[in-house]
Amino acid sequence: MAERVDCAVIGAGVVGLAIARRLALAGREVVLLEAEGAIGTHTSSRNSEVIHAGIYYPTGSLKARLCIAGKLALYRYCAGHGVTHKRIGKLVVATGAEQIEGLKKYKQQAETNGVDDLRMLTADEVAELEPEVRSVAGFLSPSTGVIDSHRLMLAYLGDAQAHGASLALASPVLSGAATHSGIVLNVGGNEATMIVCNAVINSAGLNAQSVARSLSGVPPETIPPTHYAIGHYYTLTGRSPFKRHIYPVARQDWLGVHVTVDLGGQVKFGPDFGWIDRVDYRFDERRATAFYEAIRRYYPGLKDGALQPGYTGIRPKITGPGEPAADFMISGPRDHGIDGLVNLYGIESPGLTSSLAIADYVAELLGH
Ligand SMILES: Cc1cc2nc3c(=O)[nH]c(=O)nc-3n(C[C@H](O)[C@H](O)[C@H](O)COP(=O)(O)OP(=O)(O)OC[C@H]3O[C@@H](n4cnc5c(N)ncnc54)[C@H](O)[C@@H]3O)c2cc1C
Repeated sequence: MAERVDCAVIGAGVVGLAIARRLALAGREVVLLEAEGAIGTHTSSRNSEVIHAGIYYPTGSLKARLCIAGKLALYRYCAGHGVTHKRIGKLVVATGAEQIEGLKKYKQQAETNGVDDLRMLTADEVAELEPEVRSVAGFLSPSTGVIDSHRLMLAYLGDAQAHGASLALASPVLSGAATHSGIVLNVGGNEATMIVCNAVINSAGLNAQSVARSLSGVPPETIPPTHYAIGHYYTLTGRSPFKRHIYPVARQDWLGVHVTVDLGGQVKFGPDFGWIDRVDYRFDERRATAFYEAIRRYYPGLKDGALQPGYTGIRPKITGPGEPAADFMISGPRDHGIDGLVNLYGIESPGLTSSLAIADYVAELLGH
C-alpha cells in the first residue's frame, strides 16, 4: 500500500532544503527525498559561494527579483542563525578602454534592478583599494558577500526538521504519475517505496528535466531542454593578494574568470565556461594556460606555478550554445495543469543567493 504524504520535495540541495524549510514552517508535512547519501553534494557544494548583489540580470526577470529579495533575506537569516558569511564586497574592473562602456551599462542595469549602492572608481581608486589589480576603471559593489554554503544547508535542514520535516537520504525518485488522488512517486533505494502526495516540488537540479519526464501526466512541451556547462576552479597557493572579490567585465552569459576570496581568506579563480553533454565533474588540467592568460589581464603579478587545480561545478542550463541566457524557470500548476506540482528548471547562479526567495515563490505557487 502506498503511504500518504502531504508534500514531497525532490532533491536536498540548497534550493530543495530552503523549500522544505519554508513549507514545514507553513505547517505542511514535508518529506525531503535525496538520491545521494548526503545533502548538497552536487551544484550546491560546487559553486563560488558568493552572495550576489543582483547587478546583471534583466530587469523584472526571476533572477533579478529573487536574487535581490534573496540577498536581503539571506543576510538577515545568516545573522539570526549564526551562518558564517561576510559582506566582503566586490570590484568589477575594466582592463581596456573599450570595456568602460560595459561598466556603465552594468551600473545602469543594477540601478534599474534596485541595486543603488554601486560606486564608480577611477584606475587610481581601484589601485588604492586593491594594489595588485590592474585596471583602467571599475566599480565597487559593497553588498556582494561570501557564505559558507554547507553551514547554510545545515541551518535550513535544522529549521525544517525542527518543524517536523523528515529527510530520506539514498532515496532517488525513479518515476511517478499525476492521479486523481494525488501525485504518486516511486522511490528507489534500500527501502524502495511508493508514496502519494498532495504536493511535489521537483528541485532535482541537474536532473530536474529527467525527473519531470519520468512523471506521467506532465506535458512534455512544458519541460525545457537539458544543457550542461562546466566551470573549473583553480586555487591560489599562499595568502590572498586581494581583500575582496574581483570580477572582469562579463561576457554574454558568463561572469568571466573571477576571483573569490573565501571565508578562510583563500583565493580561488573561476569558474570558466564549457559546454558538456553529460554530468562529469572530472577536472581538465589543460585549462591552466587559458586561466593564467585571463587572470593576468587584471592580476599581472600572478606567478608561474601559483595555480592549483581545485574543483568543477556544472551549470544546469535550459538554453544551449548560441542561444540567449535563460531565466530561472519555475513551472507551477498554471503552466502544466497538475495541482500541487512545481518543477524548478535552470536554477543556476544566483540560485544560492536566491534560495530563500525561491522558497517563498514556490510556497506562493502552492497557495501559502
Ligand atoms: C560553477 C557554479 C558557480 C555558482 N556560483 C554561485 C554563486 O557564487 N552564488 C550563487 O548564488 N549561486 C551560484 N551558483 C548557483 C547555485 O550553486 C545553484 O543555483 C544551487 O546550488 C542550486 O541548488 P539546487 O538545490 O537547485 O541543486 P543541487 O544542489 O544540484 O541539488 C539537487 C539535488 O537533487 C538531487 N537529485 C537529483 N535527482 C534526484 C532524484 N531523482 N531523486 C532524488 N534526488 C535527486 C541531487 O542528488 C542533488 O542533491 C553557481 C553554480 C555553478 C554551477
